[in-house]
Amino acid sequence: MNIIHTFSSNNLDRGDSTRYDEKKLETLFESSKVKILPFCELNPLIENSAIPELGWLSKAEYNNLKFSEDTSKVLFLGFDQDQSPCFTLEVNKTVEYKYLNRNLSYCDSREVATEISQNEAGILAQAKSNIDWNRKNKYCSSCGNHMKVFRGGIMRKCLSCKLEHFPRTDPVVIMLVYKDNRCVLGQTRLRQKNGFYSCLAGFMDQGESIEEAVRREVKEESGLQIGKIKYHSSQPWPFPSSLMIGCHAEATNEKIIIDKNEMTDVKWFSKEEVVLALKNKSKILNVPGPIAIAHHLIKSWVYNQI
Ligand SMILES: [Zn+2]
Repeated sequence: MNIIHTFSSNNLDRGDSTRYDEKKLETLFESSKVKILPFCELNPLIENSAIPELGWLSKAEYNNLKFSEDTSKVLFLGFDQDQSPCFTLEVNKTVEYKYLNRNLSYCDSREVATEISQNEAGILAQAKSNIDWNRKNKYCSSCGNHMKVFRGGIMRKCLSCKLEHFPRTDPVVIMLVYKDNRCVLGQTRLRQKNGFYSCLAGFMDQGESIEEAVRREVKEESGLQIGKIKYHSSQPWPFPSSLMIGCHAEATNEKIIIDKNEMTDVKWFSKEEVVLALKNKSKILNVPGPIAIAHHLIKSWVYNQI
């Protein structure tokens, strides 16, 4: 399927070869073409125009602000289409932008992702996940000593044991289980309100294929057995750094046994009810909106595009 999911249209050139040249990265950060995107508490600076945009700062604007942050925390994102080097960094709340004469503020990452362009949502995902990984990996997980950032933020190296650490991405299988004219949707403990149901999903285990993970998660959460599995599409999900792997999975039986530890409800829904829910017209069912891959897994099944 050729669906472009939110967070999956990042058109930056991530500049792999440039990342090995630490001096070059420093020079790029000092150049007049540099674009700098601050985050605060993992939320991006946004320019609040009619169509919101990422609040990229020029070098002059950056220099005018009173940043207390250590510039060694600046992370390289890549080059945009004009070959401008793009960087990001996390700042604290005290930085004031109002005298830059621009309508800038920090906005919730998830809420703003569907308002900014698809390309910028992809950049948001890259920057947010990379900041989050760097802030959580200050110390070596092998020996506990300090680590230093390399390659603009996509590698950290232990200053003691020299072990190299790379950003993690957590694969999650998410699948619409179906049989004939019905599909299975579940409700987790976190989202019990308003008849909200979504596709079953779960983190992949180590040493497990996508197909094995789909079968295991479905069995754990619903007790159902799965026959045919078909991959649909994937979506980066920067909360904090997952990769959603979307599939359709055909059940071979119908009796649901709910995992009460994880799920408050799992049940079959008719295609007619799901169609109403996609149009926000169902009285009993709410499904995720287009920001989430679950929406597209449901929609493609409803319209026989699997
Ligand atoms: Zn170490």
